[in-house]
Amino acid sequence: MSKVTTTESKSEAVRKDGHTITVDLDKCISAGPCSIAAPLTFLLRDSDGKAIISDPDGDTLDAVMEAARSCPVLAIIIKDKTGKQLFP
Ligand code: SF4
Repeated sequence: MSKVTTTESKSEAVRKDGHTITVDLDKCISAGPCSIAAPLTFLLRDSDGKAIISDPDGDTLDAVMEAARSCPVLAIIIKDKTGKQLFP
């Protein structure tokens, strides 16, 4: 499984396909739709309901992109393997 780094302000991991997923935990308002769109990638932590990455390869890239699009505060950032930001 890919390594996930979670700090106070973000949860970040690189997928096997090279895409980087970042959740901005300062922005996250614990709304939850990300964990419905990509349930194996995002986990709402017990302490405050914010989304942390549990397994960056748990869902397809399409599902992860859908999760990012579903976030009401655009807290999920997706970059491709060259570092180009795909969303938002
Ligand atoms: S959808 Fe956005 S605000 Fe809601 S839990 Fe996921 S990252 Fe946080």
